[in-house]
Amino acid sequence: MNKDPKETLTTSAGAPVDDDQHSMTAGLPGPALLQDIHLIDKLAHFDRERIPERVVHAKGAGAHGYFEVTNDVTRYTRAAFLSKVGKKTPLLVRFSTVGGEKGSADSERDPRGFAIKFYTEEGNYDMVGNNTPVFFIRDPLKFPDFIHTQKRNPQTNLKDPDMFWDFLSLTPESVHQVTILFSGRGTPKSYRHMNGYSSHTFMWYNARGEHRWIKWHFKTAQGIQNLAREEAVRLAGEDPDVATRDLFQAIEADNYPAWNVFVQIMTPDQVEKYRFDSFDVTKVWPHADAPLIPVGRMVLDRNPENYFAEVEQAAFSPGNFVPGIGPSPDKMLQGRLFSYHDTHRHRLGGNYQLLPVNAPKSAAHNYQRDGFMRLDNNGGRGPNYYPNSFGGPQPDPGFAQPPIDVQGIMARHAYRPARPEDDFVQPRALYEKVMTDSDRDHLIHNIVEHLKNAQRRIRLRQAAVFYKVHPDYGCRVAEGVGLAEAEVKKLAGLGQAELAEATA
Ligand code: NDP
Repeated sequence: MNKDPKETLTTSAGAPVDDDQHSMTAGLPGPALLQDIHLIDKLAHFDRERIPERVVHAKGAGAHGYFEVTNDVTRYTRAAFLSKVGKKTPLLVRFSTVGGEKGSADSERDPRGFAIKFYTEEGNYDMVGNNTPVFFIRDPLKFPDFIHTQKRNPQTNLKDPDMFWDFLSLTPESVHQVTILFSGRGTPKSYRHMNGYSSHTFMWYNARGEHRWIKWHFKTAQGIQNLAREEAVRLAGEDPDVATRDLFQAIEADNYPAWNVFVQIMTPDQVEKYRFDSFDVTKVWPHADAPLIPVGRMVLDRNPENYFAEVEQAAFSPGNFVPGIGPSPDKMLQGRLFSYHDTHRHRLGGNYQLLPVNAPKSAAHNYQRDGFMRLDNNGGRGPNYYPNSFGGPQPDPGFAQPPIDVQGIMARHAYRPARPEDDFVQPRALYEKVMTDSDRDHLIHNIVEHLKNAQRRIRLRQAAVFYKVHPDYGCRVAEGVGLAEAEVKKLAGLGQAELAEATA
């Protein structure tokens, strides 16, 4: 905290205050008086200090910085902030855990949020990603249920291993993300030592209106560093704010964290013919199919002056696009396009985009008016309707997204994998080819220490899902949680519906 020059204390209405230590009373011990407006003002404001915490990603830390373009990508996107090598754009980043409450420990096993707000000259572009390249589920209809299982039991108000593993084992598409979550990357050493991924696929389109599909990758220049389980557990007790402190202190010491930024790109034709569903957020695009193309570098070089104003009130949304970038048909993304704006309206109010941290640095011109906490001049005396002949802002068809051909039968379509075992192919590659012996040892240990607390039938079902990924994976987990290998192997031979029935 800075030592500011001495100023006279005032009420919230700006009137000087003579005494801030003694309430006005009738007599010496006396009852307090209603006419002590300063007391009432102070207490009443205090009573209203809390806003709803985020339903997910409640615990977070943030910092300001910039993005610098290092490679020409103008043949892929018309985005102005990516238009020139060397161009810098200011940004805000908020890192977070997902499931825990606002006071929960930074070192908990959880994905980490990796949200960026680029303040571009064409409005704010938000890249709201995670430190994992995939997600647990591929349909937003499952999201509230999934999050409930990561939170607290409705009766005990305790975290519940039965809820946690029951849902995941009944939702085998989750096993790719579960494998990453229970690897070392589920407990990063700090926010500086992890990658960020858009996970979703997005559209990029260039000035000629040609579109491609892309995924963002932010690779930490500090190198990946993770905590072993025991260390993460110890820190949760001894230093629950360890990652928040690490980020603040590094920047304060001018040790600015940086990320090298890449995209993977596929043409519409490649996506059409791809062996996986390219828009399925439970899958990556293997690098051999879509190599990383360098775009730029992100540096964080400024701490917030005030946490609440600049981090708690920051409102990120994957629905904040700029010309040159748009959504893909990924169903999970489509759900998020709604939910983020919606949750901010609930959390911060309908005019949340006017808060200084959320307001675009480029001016916003529109016909939205009024509402609680209208912080600007509310459009002044300009027209408040469109069309008008009083010189109000006009849409510009030059900014239209390229048309995309979409057709099909309207229904609640179940996911149709190209091959029945599609959900297990990529976690298998991770387990078998990417992980080292030591990575696999940590993975099994981390899973066993959590899964062992679930009921036997749920342990059986989840071990069978791991077995489907790789027999060695399933057998090692089974052994660790006291299950017979033969029983797990038999269950792993069942389809998902039969497996659910056999372990009901
Ligand atoms: P590659 O060998 O080209 O890439 C492997 C990737 O795995 C690297 O990006 C590496 O990240 C990351 N990685 C290394 N160790 C771990 C770990 N313990 N947990 C999670 N990720 C790790 O192979 P492919 O592209 O063919 O992908 C193989 C598998 O790797 C995928 O099925 C997926 O599970 C995983 N993966 C793939 C990513 C992708 O975008 N293709 C991204 C991240 C993981 P780094 O280089 O930063 O260390």
